[in-house]
Amino acid sequence: MTWTNSKDTALRERAMAVIPNGMYGHQSVMLLPDDYPQFFDRAEGAYLWDVDGNRYVDFLCGYGPNLFGYGHAAIDQAYVERMKRGDTMTGPGQAMVELAEALTAQVSHADWAMFCKNGTDATTMAMMIARNFTQKKTIVLAKGAYHGAQPWCTPLKNGVTPADRANQVFYEYNDVESLEAAVREAGSDLAAIFASPIKHDTFVDQKLPNPDYARRARELCDEHGALLIVDDVRAGFRLARDCSWSLVGVKPDLSTWGKAIANGHPISALLGADIARFAAATIYATGSYWFSAAPMAASLATLKLIRETDYLERTIALGERLRTGLDEVAGRHGFGLRQTGPAQLPLIMVDDDPTGAKGYFWNNALLKRGVYFHPWHNMFVTTAMTDADIDYTIEAADDAFKLLKAAGPLEPVAKLEFMHSLAG
Ligand code: PMP
Repeated sequence: MTWTNSKDTALRERAMAVIPNGMYGHQSVMLLPDDYPQFFDRAEGAYLWDVDGNRYVDFLCGYGPNLFGYGHAAIDQAYVERMKRGDTMTGPGQAMVELAEALTAQVSHADWAMFCKNGTDATTMAMMIARNFTQKKTIVLAKGAYHGAQPWCTPLKNGVTPADRANQVFYEYNDVESLEAAVREAGSDLAAIFASPIKHDTFVDQKLPNPDYARRARELCDEHGALLIVDDVRAGFRLARDCSWSLVGVKPDLSTWGKAIANGHPISALLGADIARFAAATIYATGSYWFSAAPMAASLATLKLIRETDYLERTIALGERLRTGLDEVAGRHGFGLRQTGPAQLPLIMVDDDPTGAKGYFWNNALLKRGVYFHPWHNMFVTTAMTDADIDYTIEAADDAFKLLKAAGPLEPVAKLEFMHSLAG
């Protein structure tokens, strides 16, 4: 089938009239190469169809939630059964207790769980609990790390006041001296250190945590009576069947979860150790949909698969197959790729591409061949992908490199320059 986008174009025009700028947030394709569709019709397994019926092998996986495949039968059956008996009720169902039991059994640092909807709900509650626990204000965070879209953490400053950003000190990820300096600056007011499980910021190479840095973050919190928070919203259960920092032997006091924990059904979680239980019990936190039972049933079914299948090893193998294949075809055409981070959570950028133009061209060519990649955000692998999907992707990449080579020098990408000026 030839690639068309007339329905998407028409929807975008209608959207412009009734949705600010037609779409917002990072799911807006405003900052993606020109042909990226904005609106989708269907998703199944590893595939996504846009409103024009074009099919893609989807390496964004809904920006993370799709771990076991879109529309996974057992997970969705658990969801539907629970929904039919009652979903959003006047209070929670039994599933809330069962899910808290399952998560605290799964995640070694956790003794209790709270549930909410979005990752930002969980990171915001974590911050409040740390401040309640310590009766102090200052939060130490890594520069460039994403923790959500509330005024205290949203990446763009429009609509944000200096007061929203007060009591924050920043450090460079993986840099022990910089972390120590930030803690010194917090002085006697340190409430928490926030850490991403890996450095998975946009636009820059991903980095695994240096164990010395992770251990030092733990020590500094212990020395100051502050709480260590690992934000596992994006990477949770994709790196380990436990909190991601179990891989470097460091237990946080609080960890935040979302995305993959229910394979796409709307729920997020905050997990904590006993030390923070009273502080958690004494903040006010709630939401109209936070206790809906059906996403909890879906999460229980997802956790069963996390416990009982080789999903993690499978996603690693798929990611490694992709990484090796892409390096090979890039080399064949005289290009280099910077493939960073864990293979199952890949960030893939074209090397020697200071303006991003090569990456945009290459990603757009992949899109036209039925592969949905992202030029500057890390991607995800789902167990629904097959070796054949990976090989198809590598062949599409081969074609896309041929086109990139033939295109010769490219103009800088105006929309990227605009975006960097906004964020600056
Ligand atoms: N923390 C991290 C590490 C994330 O990746 C995200 C979402 N991309 C969030 C927090 C916020 O989650 P949500 O968009 O569900 O509020």
